[in-house]
Amino acid sequence: MKTTYEIAVFEGDGIGPEIMAPTVDLLLTLAEPASYALRFVDAPAGAAHYARTGESFPTASMDTARGADAILLSAMGLPDVRYPDGTEISPQIDLRKALTLFAGVRPVTIRPGHPTPLATDKPVDFVLIRESTEGLFHTQGRGEVTEDEARETLLITRAISEPLFKFAFDLAKSRKAAGRGPGKVTCVDKANVFRAFAFFREMFDAEAAKHPDIAADHAYVDATALWMVERPWSFDVMVTENMFGDILSDLGAGLMGGLGLAPSADIGHDHAVFQPCHGSAPDIAGQGVANPMAMILSAAMMLEWLGGRHDAPELTRDGVRLREAVEAVITAGTVRSRDLGGTDGTAAVAAAVKAALA
Ligand code: ATP
Repeated sequence: MKTTYEIAVFEGDGIGPEIMAPTVDLLLTLAEPASYALRFVDAPAGAAHYARTGESFPTASMDTARGADAILLSAMGLPDVRYPDGTEISPQIDLRKALTLFAGVRPVTIRPGHPTPLATDKPVDFVLIRESTEGLFHTQGRGEVTEDEARETLLITRAISEPLFKFAFDLAKSRKAAGRGPGKVTCVDKANVFRAFAFFREMFDAEAAKHPDIAADHAYVDATALWMVERPWSFDVMVTENMFGDILSDLGAGLMGGLGLAPSADIGHDHAVFQPCHGSAPDIAGQGVANPMAMILSAAMMLEWLGGRHDAPELTRDGVRLREAVEAVITAGTVRSRDLGGTDGTAAVAAAVKAALA
């Protein structure tokens, strides 16, 4: 009997459903001959759902997410659909908080032949880990604003930072074992200016001391932005605060050639959400031109994560196969979506990935 993994599917808003459908199809193609099975359970939520029903994140969908082995999410939010107080509808942020998904994993991979704004063909392969539950997002939506002042609070806690750093070192270890990195973690902070970041760094150093086989260093966030452009190949695993990570991960997406190629995972102790870095792209929704690659690469990360968690090498292998199929299409360059300067639509890109898998 096949082991079945349940996947909660948030197809979301805008281009969300358009990129989710071919991704689920690819996952089913991989699972078909395998010794595992995937069961997809739809979890309605998001801005369009709110506009239709008055509810942005039904309890039943949260229950589906909590009960699933993994969560696949495309994109949520629409600029014209907002709560009465004017804030955006973003169930993905509710999920991060409710499931304590503290590690935002943002890989940046550039293979030779991959279109990139960098003036070199040198391969790049690093992972940025963005803390995703506190930092400068702590008072999100609750900042104090008076006539003359505005205040937000940056929060760094031991309860989140310690498992975050452990996660970073474990990731560096598994990347080293897979031949993907030298085994190094860089703590990105602003410890020269803020006491909160000196505290952050102190906890990082304590974790580093437990991993003599992994190199550890520090970098200030401003210098990191410069080095990500000047010598991105020098990074392996980077770990940083929420707002710094928010900004640097878009820089990473830019290096890769755009948001359409940037996958991500939000990982906690018991749950994980896999979703592209981009939003719902309402400007191109419904036209069949969205690039599904970031979504497909996020699904590949999901398979790899499930494989590690359940000690199921076949899942890990299929995750690697799916990632390599996308990378093969990118570097071949014969099928290219509009955001990458081509003319191909979502279906053609997904078909090319499927052919590369075969
Ligand atoms: P959010 O704040 O919800 O993350 P955003 O403001 O970053 O969203 P996106 O929705 O990510 O905006 O879109 C930014 C730009 O990138 C838009 O012009 C959009 O069309 C384009 N874009 C985003 N994702 C894709 C994709 N998968 N394929 C092609 N273009 C995309």
